[in-house]
Formats: sequence, C-alpha cells, structure tokens
Amino acid sequence: MPELVSHPEEVKVISRRWGQGAADIDKYIELGGYAALRKCIEQGPEWVINEMKTSGLRGRGGAGFPTGMKWSFVPKQSEKPKYVLVNGDESEPGTCKDHLIFLHDPHSVIEGTMIAGLAIGAKVGFIYLRGEYRYLIEIMERALAQCYERGILGKNIFGTGFDFDALSHTGAGAYEVGEESALMESLEGKRGVPRIKPPFPAVVGLYGGPTVINNAETIASVPFIIEMGGAAYAKLGTERNGGTRLFGISGKVNRPGVYELPMGYNLKKMIYEVAGGIPNGKALKAVVPGGASCPILRADEIDVGMDFDQMGKAGTMLGSAGVVVLDETVSIVEFALRTIKFYQHESCGWCIPCREGTDWLKKTMTRFYEGYGTTKDIDNMRYLAENMLGRTFCPLGDAAAMPMIGFFKKFRDEFEEYIRANPSAPESQALVELVGA
Ligand code: SF4
Repeated sequence: MPELVSHPEEVKVISRRWGQGAADIDKYIELGGYAALRKCIEQGPEWVINEMKTSGLRGRGGAGFPTGMKWSFVPKQSEKPKYVLVNGDESEPGTCKDHLIFLHDPHSVIEGTMIAGLAIGAKVGFIYLRGEYRYLIEIMERALAQCYERGILGKNIFGTGFDFDALSHTGAGAYEVGEESALMESLEGKRGVPRIKPPFPAVVGLYGGPTVINNAETIASVPFIIEMGGAAYAKLGTERNGGTRLFGISGKVNRPGVYELPMGYNLKKMIYEVAGGIPNGKALKAVVPGGASCPILRADEIDVGMDFDQMGKAGTMLGSAGVVVLDETVSIVEFALRTIKFYQHESCGWCIPCREGTDWLKKTMTRFYEGYGTTKDIDNMRYLAENMLGRTFCPLGDAAAMPMIGFFKKFRDEFEEYIRANPSAPESQALVELVGA
C-alpha cells in the first residue's frame, strides 16, 4: 500500500479520512459519511447545483470545467435514462492521486456519485477504474456491497423515495479512454475511441442518454462541499478556482507523495517546503506541473500559483496536478523521448495528425537520442508538433504535441549540445541531412 505523506501546510478536506479505515462503511458513517447525501435529498436538486456553482469547483481531471455548470447543462426532461459516470481512468504519467481516494475513501466517491445523480435526475452511476488498478476493484466492490446491505444504494434510500444504483467497471489499460467519449464507448463494450462532438455527453452520452462525466477527485469533493457549504469551500482556494487540490509530487524531491493544498498554492514553495526540496544538493532544472501533457517550466519560472488561471498565464496548465520535478542530472533529450514514446504508444490511431505525428516524433527522437540528430531535426520536430495542435479529434493529440513544443522551445540549447556531445555516426548524419527526418 502506498505510504501516506503529510505536511503542516496541508488543508485536508478530501484526504481528511485517509488512513482512518474509512473504506469500511461503519467507519465512514462514524466520520460523518452519507450525511451530505441525506442533506441533498432534503434540499433537492436545484439547491445542490447552486451549492456546486457557489463552490467554484472545477474539474480535477485536467480540463478545469466548472462542475456546477456542467451538471446544469443536463436537460431536466429526458426520454432516455440519465447517467453519472465517474472517470477513475487515471493514466497520465506523473498523476497518482485518484487511486488514493479509491483506496482510502471509496465511499466518498459513491456518495458524490449519488449526489450528482440526485442533482441531474439520474438513477444509475458507473465508477470506471483504470485497468491497471486491479487491486482497487475488491475495495470498490466491497464498498458498493456494503451500501446495498445498508439500503444506501437501491430503492427508497433512507425511506425518502430516492432510488439509485451504482456499479464499478475496469478498463483494459488504455490511456485514451480517459477521454470522456472514449470512456463511454469502452463502457458500452466497444473499442475505446472518441466520439465526434457535438452532441456533448450532457445531451447524448452513455447509451444515448444524458450523462454527467466527472473525474474521481471532482466527485469525491462533492460530499465535503455539501458538508461545509459551497461558499466556505470556495474560500479555501483562489478566485474562480475554489477549494483544495490533491497534488502528486514525484521525481527529484526529498519527500515525494500526494499532498492536499489550497488551489493557487505556490509551486516553488510546494517543491522546496512541502516536498522537502531537491536531494543531494542538486540544482533544479525544470518542472512538469500538471502531468506529462503540460508544457514544461524552467527553474526560473516556478514562482507561480497552482490554479487553472495562473498556470495558463505562465504558459502551461494545471492539468491533473501531477508535479514532476527534474534536477540538473536529468537529460531533457531523454525525457522528451520517454514522453513521446508514451503518447505514440497510447494514440488510438483514429486521426492522422496524432497517429502519424506521434510516430514521426518518436522515430525522429529515437534517432536523435541514439546520436544521429541534427539541428534540422529540432526544427522539424517542433514544426511537426506545432502542426498537430488543434488538428486532432481528441485532446491526446494536443497532449502529445504541447510538451514536445515546450522541450524544443525552452531547452533548444540542450538539444544542440546533445548533438555536439554525441557525434556518433557522421556518415549517417550526413545522410539524414540529405534525406530529411
Ligand atoms: Fe485517437 Fe490520437 Fe486522434 Fe485522439 S487524437 S482520436 S488518440 S488518434
């Protein structure tokens, strides 16, 4: 089981039950669980959506869309059943937070799912777990079974007339199904490739019914928001970025782990104080602030607040808040190769800019890394990545292109130095220059 970390700067909201045995329903209820659901049933859907809007909660999967607004887009009347779908397909390299929620507090996900269902008028919720998280299935299944035993799931919940069923499901290990429409395809038993939008899931989603899809951290935040009130939750964060966030800090830091900190927390402070700084007196080289798809920040760019808006102004993204710290010993060339290998492997192949673009980037980066690189390669790869941007069906194409552009833009000198330091095959290099990448 992953070791839990802690720091006095943390503001424990979503993680406050971790390590206390709350995966068991008795403990969860003892610690205040399912009270938020009761309150929501009493107050009704409109009240719930208003609280969510007031809270300023924005999607924790990466896109940062306001949750209350998303819920309000679901039509009130629908001939088809409505659904809630929880995206627990956490697969972005550097992201390591959602599995801790499932591990330590699965009932918060169930309760959040039920509250979302109540708010939009859905009677069924699906909790989709990443395929590689097989060890979580048993925990989730047990939590669901306990709810049915206690009458918290099923018909006439708490004797109020509210009906709701919830099921868990695991993927088969594809990063691509983290994209919401591919997730629905996968859940329907089809190949996990994205759907063309519009229509958007709020109108035509799972099995053709209106569907709300939220990331696991987003959904698990819901009961806490109801308990403390949307306005109090909003105050924990910054303007338009309510609440706290689970930051997964990995790489070259003394105390890696998942820390819950207010939205807008300073990245430099997070690395040097919360995560204990860089080991062995090494210097910081760069930081990937929100998972592998986010453009890299140089060491001199990290004095910035970690919320969606401030990270956008800094030229990067908050993403899934997976902070990857690179010290002076890390080769950006090797890091770029690893990054593009991942995205090339995970491309579903449906659209050409992503399928061919990631493949060419991987091939060129591999040759570059093996010592056959030229300065023209750097220009070509940057040009190629820039031409993938915005030209793909789903965000994976952008997710592959954006970090690569960042590497070439901010660390071009390191790529050039790599060519000088690795003149391994001059004849091949001449050939490459002759025929191009
Ligand atoms: Fe598939 Fe990539 Fe196109 Fe997304 S961008 S649909 S992953 S080929």
